[in-house]
Amino acid sequence: MSIEILRAREVPLGGPRALMVRRTLPHRDRSFIGAWCFVDHYGPTPVNRDTGMNLPPHPHTGLQTVSWLFEGEIEHRDSGGAHGPVRPGEVNLMTAGRGIAHSEVSTPETSVLHGVQLWLALPSPACDDAPRGFEHYAPAPVRLAAEPGEAEALVFLGALAGMASPVATYTPLLGAQLTLSADARVRLHLDPDFEHGVLLDTGTVAVDGIPLEHGDLACQDAGARELYLQAGPDGARALLLGGEPFEEQIVMWWNFVGRSHDDIAKARQEWQDRGERFGEVEGYAGRLTWLPAPELPNLRLRPRGRHGSAPRAAATHLTGTTG
Ligand code: MN
Repeated sequence: MSIEILRAREVPLGGPRALMVRRTLPHRDRSFIGAWCFVDHYGPTPVNRDTGMNLPPHPHTGLQTVSWLFEGEIEHRDSGGAHGPVRPGEVNLMTAGRGIAHSEVSTPETSVLHGVQLWLALPSPACDDAPRGFEHYAPAPVRLAAEPGEAEALVFLGALAGMASPVATYTPLLGAQLTLSADARVRLHLDPDFEHGVLLDTGTVAVDGIPLEHGDLACQDAGARELYLQAGPDGARALLLGGEPFEEQIVMWWNFVGRSHDDIAKARQEWQDRGERFGEVEGYAGRLTWLPAPELPNLRLRPRGRHGSAPRAAATHLTGTTG
């Protein structure tokens, strides 16, 4: 099986202060790994009270947000009434359904921000559901067979090496943090029905013999039963993402996932109109009480999917995405 390397592009995160993030999905050459449709990787970035993450209330539709931190702490508030911290090693998942709004602010004590913001596309029936409560889970580490060296995983979604996450998903998925000691070699045994991606966070690693650079996402199509990882002399920390191929086409623009241009235009208008669809985020203390959507581009947004993505312009439609 061949490995496709997606290189990240640097994107300023939306909101009044721009935090630079490395985005690998969506990519010109690929829209999904399973239902994973958005991968932002950021930090380690030194921050203080003035320069940390401060995302005012903004909307989402048709997706789940999956927040995973390596360092720092973020305070989450959403219009479903959830309020709580996002901490390293603990997954936080928010299901937008037909519409939710949330704010994300790094805590005053946070001196380094380092993590990923991921989205999962919801399958069609779930796009019209009411938003579901915020889910939180702190996985215990599971050892992976390594020879030589040592390796462990934190399995936050799906199952790996006999460890299963209790967090329910709408499509079969995998999400795990992998930590490899210096020069460790690990053969991961995987579900051949899944496609997979390995995102390199720190250190160095080769996937099936191909070395990754910081922030690269190595992708493998469905059909493979294993992936072979070789860490470098400093070890490696990476994320493993997987899932059954997502067969639907989606339209992504700003913070919305829909099935058509009209879905997106309607969601945007209802957010701008401050109607009931997205609810209210209580307790956000920032200056901007809600984040206005950008103007829609002067052309119809085109769907993208695993069988042929939208034209190149689709990538630019995500400019200003808040995460
Ligand atoms: Mn968000």
